[in-house]
Amino acid sequence: MEQSLAGKVALVTGGSRGIGQAIAVKLAKSGALVSIGGLSDISATRALIEAAGVPAENLLFTRADVTSQEDIDGLVKSTIDRFGKIDVLVNNAGINRDGLLLRMKTEDWDAVLNTNLRGAFLCTQKVLSGMARNRWGRIINISSVVGVAGNPGQANYAAAKAGIIGLTKTTAREVASRGITVNAVAPGFIETDMTARLSEQVRERLRGQIPQARFGAPEDVAGLVEFLASDRSAYITGQVINVDGGMFMT
Ligand code: NDP
Repeated sequence: MEQSLAGKVALVTGGSRGIGQAIAVKLAKSGALVSIGGLSDISATRALIEAAGVPAENLLFTRADVTSQEDIDGLVKSTIDRFGKIDVLVNNAGINRDGLLLRMKTEDWDAVLNTNLRGAFLCTQKVLSGMARNRWGRIINISSVVGVAGNPGQANYAAAKAGIIGLTKTTAREVASRGITVNAVAPGFIETDMTARLSEQVRERLRGQIPQARFGAPEDVAGLVEFLASDRSAYITGQVINVDGGMFMT
């Protein structure tokens, strides 16, 4: 088993399923102690981690809504109480509430911005001072290609994911001298509950726009996150890295 993250403590938001689950499993298999903060039960993630031979005590779950400052304070506290520090933060928790801009409800705008962008800001702010003290840290923000390119019906989601990119670049500049790197991962279309709602007709059209002609797997994203969390990525910061089968090439 590769142990690129032995001795590291990673906090992942939204690790119950999908991309966050694959990230939590990958980081745990790479030797990290993994703390997951999310809304619901993580029994499926726990089972995958234990099936990989990782001791159960290497995983912590705290019920935390990333839109709540109080919950994030509790999540960071429980992680530090249990594991002593936080080396890696993965801001993964996210939702979508799609609809054309003209008809978009204000509450759908607010819900998506609060979860996807404000949540990442709150978590980042809470862990930074500890990372700065330790002179080592990795912050990995899950953005989206939609935040770079836009997508009809996703004004709220695209704005939040574009905001994540601005947050990433600014934080990277502010903390570079402290041994902390901050990068964004921009997945294309990945097979999770979030994309399961798309009709077969839409999926077919999207596949036609992807040079690899397939949706990605959560593990395709997790591999990059593991690299960015490790010492091997020390000289990479403030970047937005697409994981999209070649859909957007810049
Ligand atoms: P899923 O819908 O499968 O999972 C979302 C996760 O976020 C769940 O674990 C959910 O927890 C958690 N979550 C949602 N709201 C909150 C909240 N307020 N507080 C804490 N946790 C929360 O989505 P994906 O795995 O597909 O997406 C993961 C990330 O990747 C998101 O940021 C998404 O925007 C991004 N992304 C996804 C793409 C895709 O094609 N799938 C493409 C590009 C980016 P619970 O299970 O408890 O509800």
